[in-house]
Amino acid sequence: MKFLSTRGASGSLSFSEAIRQGLAPDGGLYVPERLAVSLGTWDESILGISQKIASSFMEGDPLHASAGQICQDALSFPIPLKFLNQTTAVLELFHGPTAAFKDVGARFLASALSASSDGKKRDLILVATSGDTGGAVASAFFQKPHVAVVILWPHGKISPRQQQQLCCWGENVLSIAVDGSFDDCQALAKRAFLEWTPGPHQRLTSANSINIGRILPQTFYYAWASLKYKQERGVAPGFIIPTGNLGNAMAALWAKKMGFPVGQIVFACNSNATLVNYMSSGVWQPLPTTSTLANAMDVGNPSNAERLRHLYPDFNELKRDVQAFSVDDEAIRAEIVRGKAKWSETWCPHTACAVQVLDRVHAGDWILVSTAHPAKFEQVVEPLVGHRLELPKSLQEIMGKKQSFSRIESGKDSLSQLRKAIDSL
Ligand SMILES: *Cc1c(COP(=O)(O)O)cnc(C)c1O
Repeated sequence: MKFLSTRGASGSLSFSEAIRQGLAPDGGLYVPERLAVSLGTWDESILGISQKIASSFMEGDPLHASAGQICQDALSFPIPLKFLNQTTAVLELFHGPTAAFKDVGARFLASALSASSDGKKRDLILVATSGDTGGAVASAFFQKPHVAVVILWPHGKISPRQQQQLCCWGENVLSIAVDGSFDDCQALAKRAFLEWTPGPHQRLTSANSINIGRILPQTFYYAWASLKYKQERGVAPGFIIPTGNLGNAMAALWAKKMGFPVGQIVFACNSNATLVNYMSSGVWQPLPTTSTLANAMDVGNPSNAERLRHLYPDFNELKRDVQAFSVDDEAIRAEIVRGKAKWSETWCPHTACAVQVLDRVHAGDWILVSTAHPAKFEQVVEPLVGHRLELPKSLQEIMGKKQSFSRIESGKDSLSQLRKAIDSL
């Protein structure tokens, strides 16, 4: 199986090449050349299904033999599908080490990069993070052989709990606080990729959310949940998905195109309405980013939209398969407040967007996608529900570890400071 650039001007690559490349040389994003998976007889477990999907994407790749182990590493925690009533279920993606759905993709990528290393070069993963992504990536790569992670984050601009999740690792994880904004961190990472020549035994690699190695494994839970729902209720469910950069929802669309019993896909966005506007006008018009309570979805220019437009060159077909809605902060608050009484659930602010959208879609069978544990966003959720939330065990363990990080200033010689810090790894 080969992977092609959405812009069509770069050569095709195998899976293990595409995950090291990150962005295609023509500026496009890698997509699989085919989305056909033979449905045949399916093992009912999520692991069995994921191994079949992963094997088909790794066909002809040296990684093919390791597909089973990589899937096991990625799915090392439960992913329950909970039925809430006759026509609604919730897919809980927050039982991983950092309590959000990004654990699945980050762990798959970490395991795949580590397994496909020839042992001669170490992959240096450079990530700029505004909070959540870095924690999932750090946890996923910690102690993996032949890889090291460097995390750049804006000093003083993330919550204490987020900081702890970036700074508690050590060994092959280097946490660097930049005196500047998230944009400064991102600009620094970009400069490093463009200007920096790593040593003979190093290779600079990106693990950001456009990497195909983070998005493909997200198809596993959509494939499994759709089959499971259909088996229980006899109907192909739609999915309502909290959406920001469109990585998670893109995987749902790929699962649908692979032939799994998936109905409509609904993007539940916050006040950042770029995707919602696109779905109503067909015109792509990125907007400046607005801060909201569902801050992991604060994206004004979702980069995976390029994959969406590539998958659906025909806008009318896209309109048949996809809907999008925007949920403002007031509606997020209201949904969290009524969560206990209405559903016996406490929602995180992102999941609350999906729950709110359930009132706006046509009646039918829907799976709500729950992207994070509410205790991860305690500053928003606790005042609304009126009590303390207990941290899941995996996060409690992280909170108990010792913190350490380096600091660099943003500005002209930030790249040489970064280099010095990395050389200490
Ligand atoms: C990243 C994130 C999202 C948004 O996912 P995308 O793939 O960027 O659309 C939603 N909820 C949570 C909790 C997240 O961390």
